[in-house]
Amino acid sequence: MSSPQNNDRAVWLHGPAQHCSPPPRALPYPWRLVLLGPPGVGKGTQAAFLTQELGACHLSTGDVFRAAKNSGHHGQSPAMTAAVAFMNRGDLVPDEIVWEMIRERIGCLRCGGGFVLDGFPRTLAQADSLRKLMEKEKLQLDAVLNFTLPEAEVVARLSGRRTCEKCKAIFHVVSQPPRHKDVCDKCGSNLYQREDDRPESIAVRLKAYDHSTSPLIEFYKHRGLLVTVTASGSPQEIFQRTLSALQGRRKTQLAAHKIRA
Ligand code: AMP
Repeated sequence: MSSPQNNDRAVWLHGPAQHCSPPPRALPYPWRLVLLGPPGVGKGTQAAFLTQELGACHLSTGDVFRAAKNSGHHGQSPAMTAAVAFMNRGDLVPDEIVWEMIRERIGCLRCGGGFVLDGFPRTLAQADSLRKLMEKEKLQLDAVLNFTLPEAEVVARLSGRRTCEKCKAIFHVVSQPPRHKDVCDKCGSNLYQREDDRPESIAVRLKAYDHSTSPLIEFYKHRGLLVTVTASGSPQEIFQRTLSALQGRRKTQLAAHKIRA
């Protein structure tokens, strides 16, 4: 595995008019991953670990919409204002708006440091658009990590989740409480409960997952990309499971590459 790297994500979060500082470092074998799994399964936490370990950049579509929401209506495109309204209700943002947002940030998909896509694709149409774009760009996904967990545990994780309003660190009131109530251990800012982590939105999000996102499991299985990871246990345990699955996959990829060369 490659050396750890912290990524800025300025372009990803705020759009292509921004620059990442320092600029991302190209890696000899960058990882290009998609994370799948119901909301609350811990994709964000695993993405943060993976980013540290693999050097790839964490590209979360939800983070882009939340960044737009926090920056207020000023200077926001009508499409972004609409996206935030869908998100607040727990509904999926329409494919056209999501795709426009991704296309604007295509530089992040081309980045030589690789990426960990979290929360995208979320529908078959999005997965197909991504497939076509990657083909056009002559890029390949290395794996699609599918995190699985029983629904009752998913609901418990979502309703106890607290997020730092500044550095976005994630805590849980029971399984990963901060040292001081509602205060981030890492930067001292306030922790808050995401609007879409409230019970009425959780139900809508889980339904959207079942209906729109779970068909992606077959889509990627069919393409030989699916790697299933059981998401029970501590975040570290899940991460170790994830890393060994990826190491196995990379060995196979490198062996196939040698045979072809
Ligand atoms: P997340 O942080 O991934 O749970 O995303 C939060 C919310 O942002 C979701 O509940 C959706 O409203 C919206 N969202 C994020 N990514 C997508 C996507 N790929 N397609 C549609 N809606 C999305």
